[in-house]
Amino acid sequence: MKWSETYIPTLREFPAEAEIISHKLLIKAGYIRKLTSGVYNYLPLMQSVLLKITNIVREEMNKSGAQEILMPVLHPAELWQKSGRWETVGKELMRMRDRHQRDLVLGGTHEEVVTNLIKGEIRSYRQLPVNLYQIQTKFRDEIRPRFGLMRGREFLMKDAYTFDANEKSFNISYQKMVDAYFKIFKRCGLETKMVESDTGAMGGKAAHEFMVIVDTEGGENIIFYCDRCDYSANIDKASSFDLKEIKSEGFTEKETFKKMEKVHTPDKKTIEEVTLFLNQPPEKLVKTLIYRADGNLVAALIRGDKEINEVKLKNALGCIQLEMADSESIKKLTKAEVGFSGPVGLKGVKMIVDEQIPNLFNFVTGANQNDYHLVNVNSERDFKIDQVADIKTAKEGEGCPKCKKGRLKTDRGIEVGNTFMLGTKYSQSLGATFIDKDGKEKPFIMGSYGVGITRTAQAAVEKYHDEKGIIWPVSIAPLHINILPVNIQDQTQKNVAFDIYQRMKENKMEVLIDDRDERAGVKFNDSDLIGLPLRITVGEKYLKKKKVELTLRGKNETLFCPKEEVLEKSKKILEKLKAVF
Ligand SMILES: [Zn+2]
Repeated sequence: MKWSETYIPTLREFPAEAEIISHKLLIKAGYIRKLTSGVYNYLPLMQSVLLKITNIVREEMNKSGAQEILMPVLHPAELWQKSGRWETVGKELMRMRDRHQRDLVLGGTHEEVVTNLIKGEIRSYRQLPVNLYQIQTKFRDEIRPRFGLMRGREFLMKDAYTFDANEKSFNISYQKMVDAYFKIFKRCGLETKMVESDTGAMGGKAAHEFMVIVDTEGGENIIFYCDRCDYSANIDKASSFDLKEIKSEGFTEKETFKKMEKVHTPDKKTIEEVTLFLNQPPEKLVKTLIYRADGNLVAALIRGDKEINEVKLKNALGCIQLEMADSESIKKLTKAEVGFSGPVGLKGVKMIVDEQIPNLFNFVTGANQNDYHLVNVNSERDFKIDQVADIKTAKEGEGCPKCKKGRLKTDRGIEVGNTFMLGTKYSQSLGATFIDKDGKEKPFIMGSYGVGITRTAQAAVEKYHDEKGIIWPVSIAPLHINILPVNIQDQTQKNVAFDIYQRMKENKMEVLIDDRDERAGVKFNDSDLIGLPLRITVGEKYLKKKKVELTLRGKNETLFCPKEEVLEKSKKILEKLKAVF
């Protein structure tokens, strides 16, 4: 490819619209351009990266026994209504209406469509297992699209679906997919961690996410892992136990409940203010937060030193919509300002408490009266608990729930893949069944599996870059080599560069030549910015010593060699780079 004939609109400055480094670099280096919020054009270099990732995904999927199909993007609403997701997915579902006023969905995932596809066609256990996948554009009506391709409204995904007759066979299908995923990401140059995750609106029994670990802002997922065993989970799933949990302190018997008292705490609303004022540690305070869950008010109680995880709370309540109640509703319910809510005497509201609360004795809560708190509150004596659940966010340093010995540590990750054990959720709701060995009609046991193609590309940039630009892993680089004649007006430089270019093209090497009549500085900067793994410079050194320079992107190494050797040397370097992944 000649640079002069390729659409690579690099910019001199970082774009103002981008927040994280990978997003900034992809725009600055001329890979993507925004059409509208969360919707992007993929320019030639980007399209090349996406095709490379797609090829890797396709190869590994086919190897694992999955069959490629292509399903429609446009879905009738009825299918989503049948599965229940017309309601449960909520506003993220991209909906539209046709000219006959029929509701339609622009697919963000295809469980309904694929289940409907095999329903009535695959009738016998002898035809199972079945594993179907597609690579396609997906839609999600994100509330706040951001981070470029990471959280877009339109994106490219591989989605696969498995159908099995029984759990045993399903577990094999699931493991095959997990193995394929590790291979896919490794071939893309990305080590991934597989973590337990929340099933969300997808439903089903269990789920996992594949995370690329990064130490930048783009790692929007916090993941927890144990420093002693293999436990790992994302923030919405991770549980923990508190090593300093106050279980006893002599308050284990009912007789030791102290007398509850109301104390004046003028203007003390926050945990810090109350803690200081009453001279109590934050773990002896209990926060009462008022939520609205599917329209009904809910009081959620958590220890003062912990935070509520709203995904856990939503799952525990089994609701579709969850939001903090507005201050007017809180005032009406508690008869007090926000900040003085408490569980004692609170009526007409469901009381859900974190699993730590029943173990707490003689604690402090709001008194449902302005400027007052209650001390020596005991849940068993003073208020009625409707539900106990793990609704807190785990914290680094807390105990591992699996081995009970290790401590939890955290990393930042970018989710590039996910796998869901769906069970019979979709086959049952859509009536997709087969006849099993025993002659009985049973619903399929299903799994669904995603790889974000566009997201994987950006995750690689977030992981591999420096202050000058992108540093692509060779397996997904748009091209491998950039030949850079420093001064294209110099006939010798031009001839040598084009000679190397021609020979490399004849050898089917992936090569770009920067044949633009630009200043040397611009060409070197752009070369670093677009991030091809190898740069071949033809400049002063050639004129003086008949040597060209081979420079690895991201490394401070430069090799010099005569132009006759450059082809073999480049091949060797690229082979070596490929072997790393
Ligand atoms: Zn552990």
